[in-house]
Amino acid sequence: MNRSFEVVIGLEIHAQLATVSKIFSGASTAYGAAANTQACLVDLGYPGVLPVLNEEVVRMATMFGLAVNATIAERSVFARKNYFYPDLPKGYQISQYELPIVEHGELIIRDDTGNDKRIGITRAHLEEDAGKSIHEGLDKFSGIDLNRAGTPLLEIVSEPELSSAKEAVAYMRKIHTIVRYLGISDGNMQEGSFRCDANVSVRPHGQQELGTRTELKNLNSFRFVEKAINFEIERQIELIEDGGEVVQETRLYDSDRDETRPMRSKEEANDYRYFPDPDLLPVEIDAAYIEAVRETLPELPDAKQERFVDEYKIRVDDAAILTASRSLADYFEQVAAATRDRPQGVANFVIGELAGALNRDGLGIEQSPVSAAALAGLLDRVKDNTISGKIAKEVFEAMWAGEGSADEVIDARGLRQITDTAAIESVVDQVIAANPGQVAEYKAGKQKLIGFFVGQVMKATGGKANPGQVNKILKDKLG
Ligand code: ADP
Ligand code: MG
Repeated sequence: MNRSFEVVIGLEIHAQLATVSKIFSGASTAYGAAANTQACLVDLGYPGVLPVLNEEVVRMATMFGLAVNATIAERSVFARKNYFYPDLPKGYQISQYELPIVEHGELIIRDDTGNDKRIGITRAHLEEDAGKSIHEGLDKFSGIDLNRAGTPLLEIVSEPELSSAKEAVAYMRKIHTIVRYLGISDGNMQEGSFRCDANVSVRPHGQQELGTRTELKNLNSFRFVEKAINFEIERQIELIEDGGEVVQETRLYDSDRDETRPMRSKEEANDYRYFPDPDLLPVEIDAAYIEAVRETLPELPDAKQERFVDEYKIRVDDAAILTASRSLADYFEQVAAATRDRPQGVANFVIGELAGALNRDGLGIEQSPVSAAALAGLLDRVKDNTISGKIAKEVFEAMWAGEGSADEVIDARGLRQITDTAAIESVVDQVIAANPGQVAEYKAGKQKLIGFFVGQVMKATGGKANPGQVNKILKDKLG
């Protein structure tokens, strides 16, 4: 990265709200229905129809605002944003403009140097989604699917305070975690329920005013956000260094070629002729309503992470991983409550073996074939020395494959650990007798050969000898 330029990024994140029906009509929001089966006359803006606000979206936006420490407006107003596009039959999108429902929020992320950094959230406003144009599979024409028209969105706008692609991703991940904790969005990025536009500019170090920005549209994966921004930073710096100027425009990221391309020159707000929608009343809520919503807030990721460190004494990084998803955090707590193993041991297993297996099989924690209670049962067997930590991994895989509880697997496969001192001593004696050369070297000072002897004993016992006892007995016998 070029050191003489400073990078400035602001994100506009669109989170689809998890309502059953649309923001201004009773049509279903379910994903994946046949084209144009879920767009009613209101969504299409037929003459004479009137939009009716879905109360659920107000509650959801309020929850979000409270979660990011923002001001909730007791009065907010829907406005028409006018533009022509085939997937917008009304000729305008209903959004909020001058008086959004949420303003002046904030979020703490970890910056590139590992320190906490506060990112301002300018505003979050409610709006309806548009439909979508379809080109795939159609030869000489385009199709329009209006199922998505009228789907409720919360657009979350950050201050231009992010300084790298990594920070932008950290911020986006945090928002993603929060909306899922709150249950206000499923955050499904493949289905477009959570996507972002990244505004990117660069300026020479020390310059006060912001550089000219470009806007990268509709990035729908964390990886693409990072790659698109990095490409764009390099493009802008090269352009400026070659004596050119950045043009304010909207650009599209092409993930196949890993580059951004111009899409259209950037509209100014006054091109949209915003005005308050005469069909909708201002949204008025009072302090009592806001307090009632506050009562329903769950424990949020930062608070949960802090509690995990305090209460369970686990590593901060592990607490961060476990609390990134509410259901993973719940799972961890259920295991920790049910096992005699210490919480850090539980954290290690959940983050290592369990998350690895979920990942490998493309499953969410809710679909884990090994329940929290079953995992607790396994960890108890390590704790009481029935099996070693190493064998536990084998037992876990068998449980994962449906072979039963930890005890059933241990019995069926004969994996009980050998803790009988006399039995281990006899294997150690055989190993020493069979390797006189190594014994001599060890005695001459080559201490690290202890690993070799431990390995031989483990091999002879099928990995079932208690490792602590093996070490001790070996050291005693080798002198
Ligand atoms: P618009 O409504 O045209 O998209 P806004 O002024 O509301 O523009 O800003 C949208 C986003 O762009 C915000 O997240 C803001 O922080 C960011 N932004 C504005 N100016 C810049 C800039 N010069 N460089 C980077 N980001 C910017
Ligand atoms: Mg914008």
